[in-house]
Amino acid sequence: MTDNRKCSNCSKKMYGYTDDVHHVWICYVCGSYSGQSNSDMLFFDLINSDPLVIFQLVHDKILKPIE
Ligand SMILES: [Zn+2]
Repeated sequence: MTDNRKCSNCSKKMYGYTDDVHHVWICYVCGSYSGQSNSDMLFFDLINSDPLVIFQLVHDKILKPIE
């Protein structure tokens, strides 16, 4: 799955990450994010309550770059 998304806020490139179930795209310029979780709402409850969780998951290599 390749997907070049642009940030809806600043039109910069968003970087996609996946753990095979969830997909998230992050804009490192303005910090916005979007994603799909295959109806796992807990994942986005977690992210919405603390967006820094995304960066922690990337750092821990639980989320891997899509490209
Ligand atoms: Zn942005």
